[in-house]
Amino acid sequence: DYTKPALEDLIRTIPDYPKQGIQFRDVTTLIADPVGLRTAIDGLLWPFLKQNVDVVVGIEARGFILGGAVAHELGRGFVPIRKKGKLPGKTIGQDYTLEYGVDTIEIHADAIAPGQRVLLIDDLIATGGTADAGLELLRRSQASVVGAAFIVDLPDLGGSKKLRDKGVLVHSLLSYA
Ligand code: 5GP
Repeated sequence: DYTKPALEDLIRTIPDYPKQGIQFRDVTTLIADPVGLRTAIDGLLWPFLKQNVDVVVGIEARGFILGGAVAHELGRGFVPIRKKGKLPGKTIGQDYTLEYGVDTIEIHADAIAPGQRVLLIDDLIATGGTADAGLELLRRSQASVVGAAFIVDLPDLGGSKKLRDKGVLVHSLLSYA
């Protein structure tokens, strides 16, 4: 007697993290569950199975866990986008604004060959600032972006709409309004 767990029941909500008033959607509990992890990976990749993805790009840090599994499942390689200063080779960087101040993410300058078909993966899209900066790195790498996939969308924060308005195929498994 077994019922497949729903993804939303495996995501934990932590109030007031990282600061007062934020409801943090914690996917580590989903990733820790064997059925949850496999269901999430299948859910992330199915729209792209016939899209001739050449390489999967994931954004630090939870995008590494998910993107690595998606890449493996697609039989493709994985390329990381990391916080500034973490990648050892020559990089290109992109600043993006946070609520307070700016942050920078980087990709190895030679990681993507011009024209390669890329699927971008992260755990969650909120304002879209992070994903948008990642897409800018991919544009500057002359990638052809097939789409961007997330476990969670927070549509009220506008990120998924912002990406779609730019013509990006945005795929998410759950949304919290
Ligand atoms: P955005 O740049 O779209 O505003 O925020 C998305 C980025 O911040 C993602 O890299 C995501 O991992 C992280 N993030 C922001 N809020 C949450 C949250 O509630 N849960 C999780 N798991 N990540 C979040």
